[in-house]
Amino acid sequence: MEDICSQLNFIDFNSDLWEEFRGAYGNIKDDLLGILDTDVDIPENEKEFYLRKAPESDYRISFDNICEQLIHQGSFYDALYITMPYLVKAYEYWLKENDFEWQLLFLTYIGLFISTDNSYNHKYDGMSLDSIDENIRTSYIKSIDIMKKRAKEFILQNTEKLKKFAHIDLCDICTGLLAILGDREDAFVLMLNNWDICCPFCSNCKYLEENVELESDIGTDYLSSIIIPADSVIGQWDKKTFDNTYVWLSNLLYILGDKKAIEKLSYYFGTYICSECGYKSSPVIKLIMLGLIEG
Ligand SMILES: [Zn+2]
Repeated sequence: MEDICSQLNFIDFNSDLWEEFRGAYGNIKDDLLGILDTDVDIPENEKEFYLRKAPESDYRISFDNICEQLIHQGSFYDALYITMPYLVKAYEYWLKENDFEWQLLFLTYIGLFISTDNSYNHKYDGMSLDSIDENIRTSYIKSIDIMKKRAKEFILQNTEKLKKFAHIDLCDICTGLLAILGDREDAFVLMLNNWDICCPFCSNCKYLEENVELESDIGTDYLSSIIIPADSVIGQWDKKTFDNTYVWLSNLLYILGDKKAIEKLSYYFGTYICSECGYKSSPVIKLIMLGLIEG
């Protein structure tokens, strides 16, 4: 297998940059070293997507710590910029080992981490990729490009294995894949709202629709009066292109057997009719992001 990591710039662990680029709880170097040390025994039950009890293996503890460091409360932490090449390196190891569970965990969480690198978070944290060193920036972007390639391969090769996951897990997995393959702000909206809350913002009168919860509101007259769901696109995906999020994600969810998620997605990509002024706009998912930024 080609060493795809050779094109990435790995910041030395002795560098002061680990103090400068921090996670939610500070320096993430030690946690990162924990997931790079693959010469360890990891019990099978600690590779599961959600653990029923606290992990005991150093590897899973380090992995969970990295997740806390890089996604705490949905904020962005700039440690991600220098950590991404190492996350790719860890993914490449599990790919070589043909380990489905670890590939899935890394792909999903790398996606969720990337989703936090968006205009809403940067409005508050003032960070931006443009302001950092060119070597770090280039390597971060290349790392994401590598993960795009890997995510496509993973989806096409592991469809059968993904079918065993329940709705709640598939929502997280698909959010991660979307952040890597599609619009990371859309993925951020889905993550933040847990594929349930749906609060579009009217760009005409600035009204923010509140208290919409798809789990309980689908099928009600109230929801029908404010959101027209997008038409079904099932059967319209060639299983190769990922240009149109609504098309590939709906069809992937269809193949995986998650009708509930497809229905929710049709509302997120539907048309909002403002309950204050009647102005129509779409897709709803963009209006939710607009509400976060302007609301
Ligand atoms: Zn309005």
